Amino acid sequence: MRQRNKPWADVFLQNNSHIVIQNPRDNKGKWKNLFNNDNPIHVEIGTGKGQFITGMAKQFPDVNFVGIELAKSIIVSAAQKVITHEQDNILLINENASDLLEIFTDNEISVIYLNFSDPWPKNRHEKRRLTYHIFLELYRRVLKSSGELIMKTDNRGLFEYSLVSFSNFGMKLDEVNLNLHQAEDPTNVMTEYEQKFSEKGQVIYRCRTRFNK
Ligand code: SAM
Repeated sequence: MRQRNKPWADVFLQNNSHIVIQNPRDNKGKWKNLFNNDNPIHVEIGTGKGQFITGMAKQFPDVNFVGIELAKSIIVSAAQKVITHEQDNILLINENASDLLEIFTDNEISVIYLNFSDPWPKNRHEKRRLTYHIFLELYRRVLKSSGELIMKTDNRGLFEYSLVSFSNFGMKLDEVNLNLHQAEDPTNVMTEYEQKFSEKGQVIYRCRTRFNK
């Protein structure tokens, strides 16, 4: 995703610390207190500009959504959408997913979404792929035993790599969809990338998986 230098981002994030949580590690095991309810917590990793998370939060008001986004200049766009839509079931975190265990405790999350994650096609960058086994171990820890990992991508190479990675990790595949948009699914919320790529006629893949816990 294109990153623009936004010198005002720091001040914006500080002024909106009720949405973009400044010290997320302080809330490990206590995220439900921030939402003031016991609703399930769904986490999107690599939230981008927030189209998916704001759409999902509107469709599922009884779910609490947390978006994790590494790039400060991008998370501000997601925060602006949350403010515009006045949504109280979304919180955002400007962190790297590799620190997931510092931010969430075991079994705190019901669903993790990986939407159009960077494919990192070169072999030497395999460790950066968000479906590399080291990341899967983090997801396994923070997800509840009934929890799901749901992935969407347009990148066939990353999709195939991820299916193998899930399988090697002993995960159960509940769905492998090789053309998500072939049949209309009114519950599917499109991400920015999904909209862009599907408008260009690219196929969108989705898979839903669970850990053996
Ligand atoms: N999910 C959005 C979509 O589908 O439109 C954005 C997709 S973009 C290709 C990937 C996003 O993931 C970028 O905004 C990037 O900054 C973020 N990202 C990549 N690696 C990350 C990591 N380790 N932790 C958190 N965010 C990450």
